[in-house]
Amino acid sequence: MVDRFENLIIGGGLAGLIAANLLSKAGRQVLLIEKKPYPFHRVCGEYLSNEVLDFLKREGLLPPLDLPQIDRFIFSDTRGKSTTIPLDLGGFGISRYVLDDFLYNRALENGAEIWTGNQVENISFNKVDFTLELADGKFLTATNVIGAFGKRSKLDKVLSRDFIKKRSPYIGVKYHVKTEIDRNTVALHNFTGGYCGVNAIEENKVNLCYLGSRDQLRSMGSIEEMEQHILFKNPHLERIFSESEFLFDKPEVINEINFEVKMPVEQHILMAGDSAGLITPLCGNGMAMAIQAGKLAAEALINLSTREEIEDYYTANWKILFERRLMIGRGVQTLFGSKNASRFTRNLIAHVPFMARQIIKNTHGKPF
Ligand SMILES: Cc1cc2nc3c(=O)[nH]c(=O)nc-3n(C[C@H](O)[C@H](O)[C@H](O)COP(=O)(O)OP(=O)(O)OC[C@H]3O[C@@H](n4cnc5c(N)ncnc54)[C@H](O)[C@@H]3O)c2cc1C
Repeated sequence: MVDRFENLIIGGGLAGLIAANLLSKAGRQVLLIEKKPYPFHRVCGEYLSNEVLDFLKREGLLPPLDLPQIDRFIFSDTRGKSTTIPLDLGGFGISRYVLDDFLYNRALENGAEIWTGNQVENISFNKVDFTLELADGKFLTATNVIGAFGKRSKLDKVLSRDFIKKRSPYIGVKYHVKTEIDRNTVALHNFTGGYCGVNAIEENKVNLCYLGSRDQLRSMGSIEEMEQHILFKNPHLERIFSESEFLFDKPEVINEINFEVKMPVEQHILMAGDSAGLITPLCGNGMAMAIQAGKLAAEALINLSTREEIEDYYTANWKILFERRLMIGRGVQTLFGSKNASRFTRNLIAHVPFMARQIIKNTHGKPF
């Protein structure tokens, strides 16, 4: 027998979990399928922009924790020369381990069905609905599908999405540590080939997360060698890495981080979060965008009835909310990760702070 669902969400990161919460709260039948069992760590800087604060509070989706409030930004170039500016909107630090698990439990309480430890292997649309094949051999059908499967999934290959054919030069590495930092400051320390974000999260912990170069990792042979020979040339990073107590046995690592243009609706799937486009991490805004996209997808399914209306509404509003930010983020990425570019950017922030604040403003959305 084939199970049938009204709304099916593939992937339980922020986009998928927010959509599951809103759909189930509105009394809609929803199944979310997430590959991994909660709670789990992910590569992410865990700085969450305040643009989502009112929404999370309003919907009862903000974990009741004492979270570090962040309203200052420090930038250092590859040699460690730094400058600091205030953040107009600001944000707060919270680990994905805690946040995603909280949203998962809230979605269950709200009546969503969630299957973890299973994944969607195949999907096809046949005129009126979708057929999905899961890793355990089960087949499902669904009227509506939200694709919230993140920056890279085996489904991107199944769907023959254009970006999947291109290789990406970036890797991401994340640690949780205990160390002394200003808890109201998010730092972005450059090194040749990348940059490392540093900010406080819950329970006096600190997130260290960097975007680095695949080629450098290959040439150095290991993460440790790459950190010592490349990241540590920035004295801020050398100090933080040498003085911190590392809380993971080994870092969380991902590769093939891709900032290519993607489409918000593909083969009738509403793509939400990174599956519709990943903003460059230096913008510190991907989590907020995933939350807002999950909300947008849920609203389209709650308020509209025909497939055409739903897809048109989602595409038009997704473009208004995210298209420009993604484009600016790709441009800003060129101002980081090399000696000259990072020196130029530090000078720009120090001497024309208005410009730096405008760039930050233009990569962020308004509170909603
Ligand atoms: C190095 C780095 C640092 C970053 N730092 C920040 C930051 O400080 N602040 C910020 O706001 N953003 C940051 N981001 C961006 C942010 O992490 C993402 O934008 C955000 O996680 C997107 O959420 P999502 O729900 O779209 O995807 P994800 O959180 O990636 O969730 C996708 C989920 O789908 C699941 N999945 C995939 N395929 C399948 C399948 N076939 N079946 C079932 N499940 C599947 C995966 O297991 C995963 O749990 C950073 C990104 C990187 C790479």
